[in-house]
Amino acid sequence: MSAFDSNFKFETYEEYYGDIKQVKELIDVCEICGNKLLMSHSADYTNLLVQESATCPECGNKNRKMIHVLH
Ligand SMILES: [Zn+2]
Repeated sequence: MSAFDSNFKFETYEEYYGDIKQVKELIDVCEICGNKLLMSHSADYTNLLVQESATCPECGNKNRKMIHVLH
């Protein structure tokens, strides 16, 4: 785990509130200006991880990086 950039965090929905639709909106929308984020993924199949980054095309907000453990 220590091999990864500390900016990445393991995804946990526990920090979100509301139903799944509200959670998805929180994930997909810029929390600063409300525009839809551009998502990008890079999969690491060797380690069964996906790095996910979201960038806001409007204000350049780039605060969401996650690692999904593939099952
Ligand atoms: Zn924004």
